[in-house]
Amino acid sequence: MTAGVNGDVSFWYADFGGLPQFRAALAGDTQCDVAIVGAGYTGLWTAYYLMKSDPTLRIVIVEKEFAGFGASGRNGGWLSGEMGWSRERYAEKTGRQSVIDLQMAMWSTVDEVIDVCAHEGIDADIIKGGSLQVATTAAQAVRVREYVRHEAEWGVSAPDLVFLDRSETKARVDAADVLCSSFTPHAARIQPAKLVQGLARVVEGLGVRICELTTVTEISPHRVVTNRGTVSAEYIIRATEGFTAGIKGYRREWLPMNSAMIATEPLSHKQWSQIGWNGYETLGDAAHGYMYAQRTREGRIAIGGRGLPYRFGSATDSNGRTQARTVEMLEEILVRMFPALAGTRIDHAWCGVLGVPRDWCATVGLDPKTGIGWAGGYVGMGVTTSNLAARTLRGLILAQNGSQEEFAETSLPWVNRRVRKWEPEPFRWLGVHGLYTMFRSADRSERHRGTEKTSRKAQVAARIAGRD
Ligand SMILES: Cc1cc2nc3c(=O)[nH]c(=O)nc-3n(C[C@H](O)[C@H](O)[C@H](O)COP(=O)(O)OP(=O)(O)OC[C@H]3O[C@@H](n4cnc5c(N)ncnc54)[C@H](O)[C@@H]3O)c2cc1C
Repeated sequence: MTAGVNGDVSFWYADFGGLPQFRAALAGDTQCDVAIVGAGYTGLWTAYYLMKSDPTLRIVIVEKEFAGFGASGRNGGWLSGEMGWSRERYAEKTGRQSVIDLQMAMWSTVDEVIDVCAHEGIDADIIKGGSLQVATTAAQAVRVREYVRHEAEWGVSAPDLVFLDRSETKARVDAADVLCSSFTPHAARIQPAKLVQGLARVVEGLGVRICELTTVTEISPHRVVTNRGTVSAEYIIRATEGFTAGIKGYRREWLPMNSAMIATEPLSHKQWSQIGWNGYETLGDAAHGYMYAQRTREGRIAIGGRGLPYRFGSATDSNGRTQARTVEMLEEILVRMFPALAGTRIDHAWCGVLGVPRDWCATVGLDPKTGIGWAGGYVGMGVTTSNLAARTLRGLILAQNGSQEEFAETSLPWVNRRVRKWEPEPFRWLGVHGLYTMFRSADRSERHRGTEKTSRKAQVAARIAGRD
């Protein structure tokens, strides 16, 4: 089956009447205190916190399309406090306590986003219903148990993370073949485009200038070169996450990983009770090529997964259109999990890119010599993280500017972390495609063989990719 609409950036815009009107482009050279490249969550939150701390700042955001064109207007809407990067890797440089601090900061950031939205009048359909990670094969069940055990080693245990057996899981979501799950209360479902559009409006109201339809071609100390003129600034923030490879000098910095989604038609009350998904938990699984889903305001299921993982040469899609076979794959996952939904209409399909650093760990930083800062490489966990990253950037910039205020975020372990670059092509394309072929094959064999052992292929793939 195909989707009613494929592309048009994402379903989330169709959900509130279509794409927004463009703001004016940059009209020639200009000067400011802080120039921000990219008007997604990272850029907009950074502008928000800087203006809240110092309303006299002159901030210009330059955006090649419109605010919320990128992943911030397309994602799964998981506002999650999960710390999905390697704790061990961060701890190697900054120690165990700094990693525990990062976890605490992630949890409190979920509430920070909810509080700011309430305070600023941003209605993003937010419901804090927690997050459920289900296992539907024996191997996934072992991984879920192992995940809960591993988190406990880092001090994360009940009530922040609990293991649910089969009947406890089924009481929350009656997915087919479900064996067990983990549940954390530190997550909310949001409507992502409403959040990014609301933020852009609030930030503009604070006096920030957002220039749309303005493509940055080069970033150098104190200069942002665009197709519409040059912005000179004391500080420059690169907030382009999955699109970073498109900017000169950053080609191999973060890999633009694709993720794709579909949204079903609104389900009836009968269908919701058949699938037994009674709350608003975000829902994921423990497959290697995992799925993520949410129940939307109108009672649709929006479900996502990897699909085509990566385009050669770090290319990105033009308006979110995804491949027919990715739509089919996502439908298959939906119906495998909820057989009662066979034949459900798919109203919209779309895709987008997220940024992946070579060590799969998010970073934020500011180079004091050049005044160039960055945040991203969130590896699919940017909805919450971008807010924490923005507050970190605020702290780094204001400290550099001589502020006496202390910002605890600036000592988190991901600050100023430098990692090696991705391999050049064609090795990059071959590596990522090989990795996901192995993950898909591992998921299939774990499902068919029913063994508890994680497929050897998946272990090897994760090691080669540098994820483990
Ligand atoms: C399908 C999908 C599902 C996801 N689901 C989740 C989820 O459920 N939970 C979660 O936490 N994370 C999720 N993510 C990841 C998350 O959405 C991103 O990490 C986050 O939105 C990144 O925000 P950002 O502002 O850094 O980047 P973006 O939102 O991508 O913004 C970057 C902006 O920079 C602009 N830009 C790019 N190049 C230039 C240039 N040369 N000049 C000027 N402007 C430029 C782009 O147009 C874009 O607007 C998902 C991502 C995708 C794609």
